[in-house]
Amino acid sequence: MTSPAARTALELTADLPVAALEDLYRDLHRHPELSMAEHRTAGRLAERLRAAGFETVEGIGGTGVAGVLRNGDGPVVLLRADMDALPVAERTGLPYASETDGVMHACGHDLHVTWLVGAGQALAAGRETWSGTLLLVGQPAEETGQGAARMVADGLYERFGRPDVLLGQHAVPGPAGLYPHVPGLIMSASTDVDIVVHGRGGHGSRPETTVDPVVTAAYLVTRLQTVVARETAAAESAVLTVGRIEAGTRHNIIPSEARIALNLRTQSETVRARMLAAIRRIAQGECLAAGCPREPEVTVGATFPVTVNDMDTDRRVAAVHGEVFGAATVFDPGPAMGSEDFSELAAGSIPYAYWFVTTTPPPVWEATEGTDLKEKLQGVPSNHSPHFAPDLSTVAPGVRTLVSGALALLSVA
Ligand code: ZN
Ligand code: ZN
Repeated sequence: MTSPAARTALELTADLPVAALEDLYRDLHRHPELSMAEHRTAGRLAERLRAAGFETVEGIGGTGVAGVLRNGDGPVVLLRADMDALPVAERTGLPYASETDGVMHACGHDLHVTWLVGAGQALAAGRETWSGTLLLVGQPAEETGQGAARMVADGLYERFGRPDVLLGQHAVPGPAGLYPHVPGLIMSASTDVDIVVHGRGGHGSRPETTVDPVVTAAYLVTRLQTVVARETAAAESAVLTVGRIEAGTRHNIIPSEARIALNLRTQSETVRARMLAAIRRIAQGECLAAGCPREPEVTVGATFPVTVNDMDTDRRVAAVHGEVFGAATVFDPGPAMGSEDFSELAAGSIPYAYWFVTTTPPPVWEATEGTDLKEKLQGVPSNHSPHFAPDLSTVAPGVRTLVSGALALLSVA
């Protein structure tokens, strides 16, 4: 261990208040809140940051929280945690399971908030070891892709200054104690698309008087499978999933319309544009073939941008993580098909590093079948699963990743 950042990070996190942080985590886990309704969570976070010496503002872009600590000359470093939970009924059986029916912290954002609190406390307590400005952000509504953009639009950077660099981290499945980093594209873009097929309704016994949108929708779903299989190069990564199809009311009524909802995952704007064009063409073609009375409506809905780490920033953070946790714990898993709205905080040009922290409890990991990491990952609960339950042993390491990452970018004596 050589770098001042790694040495200082270990000093500042040597005596973390682990019991209090675990209490905070269990409290947040018991009280999950849906996107844009993170009032209690935001309050808890702001209260802790204020107590640690941060100047805080709440209600940014809805329920967003920011805490700033100006500590002399040096870079402005933003650390981000998302705060929202999901409409999932928890089935972990944990003593601190959700007390809100049908809502669960199934993506680990409760852990992210806990990590951010721990890092804020440690960095504030050790402020004589570094200089610069820390901007800690509790972001609402990551799951719906709204929160980061809303905070920026609500003047986050006008109020606190534009950061020089952003850091974010996410809990993922995998044996607790690994810190995957990808220098470049790490998360994919996500695009929702809705298609309405207009047919002509009528009696089920007289199809000749109708244009059946159910049959057209069925062809459409099948044909859409060729967008990835036949129109996208093997070297490109893309996913097209039809997640919902809806038509009709009764057995013997041919409805007048059918609705299809699908989602795309892409890693380049060119591929995304090509897929959207193919979807439009196929929808129009199928409707034309069926003799639909009107063209189909194809609308693009919610989108998440790609998350592309700045190579230099990510290398610096990965290097300090290697020093703090051991070189073998940091590796490049390649880009994921999942999506994030973290990069909206970059407001077009701020460099950032975003990495993963594996959180599967060791006994669960050991009991899972498989010969290597990839095989075993198929068997453990993933984010958004009603069984997703990060191990409490990851509370302190997730604080250390943030503290060391921040120190690698701040000015350390
Ligand atoms: Zn999620
Ligand atoms: Zn998440």
